[in-house]
Amino acid sequence: MNILIMGPAGAGKGTMSELILKEYDIPHISTGDMLRENVRNNTELGRTAKSYMEAGKLVPDDVINAMVEDRLQQPDCQKGYLLDGFPRTLVQAEAFSEIAEKIGKPVESVIALEVGFDVLTDRITGRRICPKCGAIFHIRNHAPKVEGICDECGAELQQRKDDTVEQLKVRMDEYEKSTKPVIDFYEAKGVVSHIDAGKDKSEVFADVKAALEK
Ligand SMILES: [Zn+2]
Repeated sequence: MNILIMGPAGAGKGTMSELILKEYDIPHISTGDMLRENVRNNTELGRTAKSYMEAGKLVPDDVINAMVEDRLQQPDCQKGYLLDGFPRTLVQAEAFSEIAEKIGKPVESVIALEVGFDVLTDRITGRRICPKCGAIFHIRNHAPKVEGICDECGAELQQRKDDTVEQLKVRMDEYEKSTKPVIDFYEAKGVVSHIDAGKDKSEVFADVKAALEK
């Protein structure tokens, strides 16, 4: 099963990805991991990418595409893959689509996680993070035993500076502006499932599974 998962921050993309990977036994492919791996293994693509990163520039699409092409042909992708965070733009989607067709691994299912602004606001502004051990809490859905104190290590919890309604609006606008054309692109291929990600985790996953297996 060749899957692409999309969703704004706070939509639970990480959680759904984990559940999908477990259920279908396919590898998780993110461009961030791929970049790091290529740089670490000092591959030709990794060296090229590194030269851009060191110059503080974005790694160009053709380098990323070549990495994805290489990655999808690894033996662990035989049963499929879960692509996360790529393609991000229409240009990337078009180029990637050509590559994926060429190597016989086109995207078969796009899971578009959708959450209302109210739900996202609640999830994000209620989030509290432990600066010491990284544990994540939520003032209502996953409250620490003692208000403001980490259950794990006793440190004082903090709110991330950009976990505000204003920043959320900016992030949502950016997300919609860049991903709408990507979703439309796959919509035209008839492979997109819009999933209401505002529900309980197990309910959302049941919907994801139903979409993948239809
Ligand atoms: Zn802690």
